[in-house]
Amino acid sequence: MLGPDHGRMEKTLDEQYGLEPVFEPGDQAESDPEAPLSGVADVDCPYCGERFATAIDLSAGSQSYIEDCQVCCQPIEMRLVLGPSGELVAFEAGRIDV
Ligand SMILES: [Zn+2]
Repeated sequence: MLGPDHGRMEKTLDEQYGLEPVFEPGDQAESDPEAPLSGVADVDCPYCGERFATAIDLSAGSQSYIEDCQVCCQPIEMRLVLGPSGELVAFEAGRIDV
């Protein structure tokens, strides 16, 4: 079985080999902070309890991913839930070591 660190390893490999998500031509969501398909959410770190703001990508639909805490650098599982119109319904942060 693959451990909970598998996702992080894949992400690391992607970064190492320069594999970036494919964006459609004309998709400016990544570079335009005011684009409707991206945003910033406040996250309460489940490890250290500090709150920080993180960019979220609403163009990829409901998803979960791992992002390191900007304060204590522990890996946080971000769960993004979008509604049928693409609106943000829920954004949760949880530990991955439970
Ligand atoms: Zn933290």
